[in-house]
Amino acid sequence: MRLKMNLQWKLSFLFLLNLGITIIFINFVTKYAINQHFYQFCQLAESGIPKCLQSQAGLQFMASINSSLWVVSIFGSLLALFLGYLFSRSFLKPFQNIITSTKQVSKGDYKIRIKAKTYDETDELIVALNEMYGSLERIETLRKELVANMSHELSTPLTNIYGYLEALSDQVITKKHDRKTALKLIKSETERLIQLIGELKKLAILESDSAQLSLSKIDINQLIKKTTQSFTNKLKDKKILLKTSFDDQIGKISVDKNKIQQVITNLLDNAIKYSAPQGAITLTTKKINNRQLNIIIKDQGIGIKKSDLPYIFERFFQADRSRSNKVGIGIGLTIVQKIVTAHGGQVKVSSIYKKGSTFIVTLPILS
Ligand code: ADP
Repeated sequence: MRLKMNLQWKLSFLFLLNLGITIIFINFVTKYAINQHFYQFCQLAESGIPKCLQSQAGLQFMASINSSLWVVSIFGSLLALFLGYLFSRSFLKPFQNIITSTKQVSKGDYKIRIKAKTYDETDELIVALNEMYGSLERIETLRKELVANMSHELSTPLTNIYGYLEALSDQVITKKHDRKTALKLIKSETERLIQLIGELKKLAILESDSAQLSLSKIDINQLIKKTTQSFTNKLKDKKILLKTSFDDQIGKISVDKNKIQQVITNLLDNAIKYSAPQGAITLTTKKINNRQLNIIIKDQGIGIKKSDLPYIFERFFQADRSRSNKVGIGIGLTIVQKIVTAHGGQVKVSSIYKKGSTFIVTLPILS
């Protein structure tokens, strides 16, 4: 409201000032011109110039011109103020809508959209704000779902573990074979809990300032080789073949070692997660030119629908949750993008639904 009043009056006075200056200018020019014309007229008068200038008719003529100019000036200014106020009110209406909507959003109502159409640059601002509200609404919905799912996902294995442990300690399970089975189940439920906690740790990484890089010169091929070794068991479990190809032309480059390792881990983890058993994954590094290199991770997994592709880097987004693994929380790729962008690089994805996906990380070669 304050902004509206302030701006509205400011614009009205600007209008007034503009027209006021024009009126004063016209006032002076007109007076000067009429004086000149009257002098020229008196040059022709028989009574002579001084007498003509001082004559009753002459003085009255000049006085009436003067007062007419004043009346025009005052009414003109009032009209300018009135029109300025009127125009600025319609000009400021969309801004009032913008203020109302941002207040609503700050209270947590992300459904609001600005409806105004101004046919000028303000439209760009309105479109950008509406997009931002849309994105906030999506994130908020996904966040709520995540909290609900996570509490369920954490409590299920815990309840199971508790049940098995109780049965074991009360000696309800007596047979050696059944005890072994119960222990196996406790182990797998514990692994699931560890995985879930790992996902929550990822969330902490995302919230921490991943734009802060601690750069050091490293052999990126070596770093990737080392990272892939930690996936040996996962690959074995799903009988997935990982084919690697490293470009030796890439020398040592300046990156944040831990963060790039996180990028490879997340992408490789996804490639395995979303691949069917006995699938194949290829991991390639390639120097594009003296300034850039590519890290390409290609799988033959479930693929991503075209309609989901624009959103997969968004926080908490999970394409087709029923097909996705239940452990993920949709932030792995958000972290990847954040880290790669902080390095001045970019990450792209291409995918064919049910056929597989390819993630290409492009990094600048900083020596
Ligand atoms: P999540 O923890 O769910 O894997 P991500 O941010 O890593 O979260 O990925 C977001 C979504 O993108 C996933 O839920 C999944 O649907 C899709 N996705 C990511 N990588 C792949 C892949 N290699 N193949 C198929 N879908 C993928």
